[in-house]
Amino acid sequence: MKKEDKMLAKENKELIKKYPFLLVRNRFSGKVQDGYDYTWTELDAMPEGWRKAFGLKMCEELKVALGDLVDKYRIMQIKEKFGELRWYDAGSTKAAYDVISKYTKLSRSICIECGEPATKITTGWISPYCDEHFPGGDFIPVSELEIELKEEDIEE
Ligand SMILES: [Zn+2]
Repeated sequence: MKKEDKMLAKENKELIKKYPFLLVRNRFSGKVQDGYDYTWTELDAMPEGWRKAFGLKMCEELKVALGDLVDKYRIMQIKEKFGELRWYDAGSTKAAYDVISKYTKLSRSICIECGEPATKITTGWISPYCDEHFPGGDFIPVSELEIELKEEDIEE
């Protein structure tokens, strides 16, 4: 293992010790893959900007919300869809669901690249960006976002 990977694995082990649901498991069997080397965790699927802005804070709040159930809680998938965070799980509680809902909403107004407040939402591939990372093209201002997303939700 390369030196960087060793350091990364060490950091990730600490992270997983704190937040056991970040351990990468087979979605169906729940088993940890043979030879899993801790060079990645479930949180790596979260877009960089969001992870920077609230990734660990969200994990901490989830842990608190899950209480004793934290060891049984599983992440199924973390991704971006329609410009917002999607966090799919199993073994959730109402309190954990509320945490996820809060950050899903928050993600719509945070730059997916850097974690700064977003100003524009691209409309082709819907994503929130700050002025610096806005890739160009059609967009709607973040201030008009609420209405747009409600329409998207209906279509889904
Ligand atoms: Zn940015």
